[in-house]
Amino acid sequence: MKVCVIGAGVGGLCAARHSLEAGLEVVVFEKSDEIGGIWVYSEETDKDIYDLDVHTSRYQSLTTNLPKEIMGFPDFPITIGDKSFLTADQIQRFNHTYADYFDLKRHIKFLHCVVLVEPYADTQWRISTKDLVNNIVFTTTFDFVLVCNGIHQTPHIPIYPGQDRFHGKQLHSHKYRRKDIFHGERVLIVGSGASAVDLISDARNLASYVAQSYRSNNTVDLFSSYNVVKRYPEIEQFTSEEVVFVDGRKEVFTIVVYCTGYRYNLPFLSASCGVTTKGNQIVSPLWQHCINIHRPTMAIIGLCQFVMSSQIMDIQIRFSLKFFTGVKSLPSHEEMLLSEANEISKRLRKGIKKTHFMGVPYMDQYQKELARLAEIKPLSPVSFRLFRHIVKIGESDLLNLRNNNFKIVNKNKGPYV
Ligand SMILES: Cc1cc2nc3c(=O)[nH]c(=O)nc-3n(C[C@H](O)[C@H](O)[C@H](O)COP(=O)(O)OP(=O)(O)OC[C@H]3O[C@@H](n4cnc5c(N)ncnc54)[C@H](O)[C@@H]3O)c2cc1C
Repeated sequence: MKVCVIGAGVGGLCAARHSLEAGLEVVVFEKSDEIGGIWVYSEETDKDIYDLDVHTSRYQSLTTNLPKEIMGFPDFPITIGDKSFLTADQIQRFNHTYADYFDLKRHIKFLHCVVLVEPYADTQWRISTKDLVNNIVFTTTFDFVLVCNGIHQTPHIPIYPGQDRFHGKQLHSHKYRRKDIFHGERVLIVGSGASAVDLISDARNLASYVAQSYRSNNTVDLFSSYNVVKRYPEIEQFTSEEVVFVDGRKEVFTIVVYCTGYRYNLPFLSASCGVTTKGNQIVSPLWQHCINIHRPTMAIIGLCQFVMSSQIMDIQIRFSLKFFTGVKSLPSHEEMLLSEANEISKRLRKGIKKTHFMGVPYMDQYQKELARLAEIKPLSPVSFRLFRHIVKIGESDLLNLRNNNFKIVNKNKGPYV
């Protein structure tokens, strides 16, 4: 039986490893010439030499926002470096260690971009791939597909009146690379997630002025103790020089950076695959956030947000493979649809529109459910305690979060700082 893995980022490598261990023949198609996905650095921000959109969002100053103790795989931890928070280069080094240890690279077809995925016969797939070097498209049949193309490649940029006539520079964090662009500028960072925090940190010593526009009233004022960043609510409109906010205040800016997240994008799935995407809110219908309910020989890995992504992808892959290979039987089509509907309404009741949003405590409940359903090993409890601990420190002192170091001394206790 043959599985196609789309993408050789962290998720794709993990998918290849577990598929091989499940006894499947594996082909990984990777459109770039390197493993690692978003952990690969590129000065290019628009198109690569094959005229494809540049995939990576990595910036020069990028350091992990989770400690290495919960960024490795459940049975293959990261041991690189003395500190808990690693540079992007160190993570990329780990990606190579992982790929080499499981001898994955020989299964990867680099510079092969998947352009079309179509159902074939009852349960199979026809996958058309463009060989970028030779500029030819060829089609191969597979029994299973593990889609691991990443969720940080298609920027979401909000639209505001007057945005086009603004004379300053505007960019999404996806295209941000070097902090020297902030030198002497009046900078507005839009958003309050991890990239917004990083970019404010980068800008605050170089820019002449830094402000942040945020949507939620609940957003913690991360920089209040530093007294360097002025905070504004949402943008209402732009003039040629100024940004006008919804509370009526306005100010002159020379650079606006949108740290406003990404949209799900699965451009290669034909309509007949039965899966649709809605902005950054949902990919549907999926059972347990990954298995394609209409054609359950496909799984989409890594859609969950605010998670320990490597660990959650690892368990999603082990889960999917148990059903692909027939070790476990799927529930009925109706049961899977009902399970998805319940999952959506559970979040909506709490005001969460993003179906794949996890965080604490959904992530732990979710992985336990995957482990129960597929009878596979759950993730270690200490990971969740450490994740919760990180979130707590982040809420009170985000700028110093990365100065903490952790050591897991007992997988069932701790963490000890
Ligand atoms: C700036 C930034 C910082 C982050 N920091 C952290 C962190 O500190 N800790 C953490 O846990 N997570 C972090 N994340 C989340 C991160 O995305 C995940 O941890 C993880 O690395 C995602 O892996 P992935 O394999 O799902 O996707 P990606 O890394 O995006 O890899 C997808 C791969 O698929 C390939 N591909 C895409 N389309 C096609 C196609 N059509 N054909 C063939 N190949 C294709 C791409 O070239 C790429 O190699 C961060 C994300 C961003 C954007």
